[in-house]
Amino acid sequence: MSQRAALDLRDRVRDVPDFPKPGIVFKDLMPLVADPAYFRETIDRLEELARPKRPDIILGAEARGFIFGGALADRLGCGFVPARKPGKLPWETVEATYELEYGTDRLQVHADAIRAGTRVIVHDDVLATGGTARAKTELVEQLGGEVVGLLFVVELAFLNGRDKLVGYDVDSLISY
Ligand code: AMP
Repeated sequence: MSQRAALDLRDRVRDVPDFPKPGIVFKDLMPLVADPAYFRETIDRLEELARPKRPDIILGAEARGFIFGGALADRLGCGFVPARKPGKLPWETVEATYELEYGTDRLQVHADAIRAGTRVIVHDDVLATGGTARAKTELVEQLGGEVVGLLFVVELAFLNGRDKLVGYDVDSLISY
């Protein structure tokens, strides 16, 4: 068996109960990115899924989406665009609103970061309810870009995030 086949990414995903609030089991990926073999394996697998989609840009949301997204973009030879909370980006932005458990939140990208016809992969570390991923697809499309796929390290399938992403090509490496 190759070393690669022996690596189970779940071995470096830590469950943290009641974080950030009671009842939530937080999937902590910091052990995965701190281990060189597991981090590389993760980027290898993301690359395999992403490359056939021929993206120009990886769009990642702060903050953990920057870690995998930046490494993946470099591997693929594409650009990286950050989606950030309001007030963080210095240039002209476009904005999308998404629902939280209580209330709403907003994400922004630079208005000149994505152009008409740009092929974009929307990335985040975890797909939970799908609200933030959906907002990112809206940001891409506001700017005339094409979402060629959504790519996650972890998917919490029991939260049915894919229901908000019908019609898009959604992949994840680990599903719970
Ligand atoms: P959602 O919009 O519900 O899909 O939430 C996605 C965002 O919240 C992502 O940026 C995730 O990193 C984070 N998130 C939500 N639930 C969890 C969880 N149980 N463990 C780790 N991250 C989570």
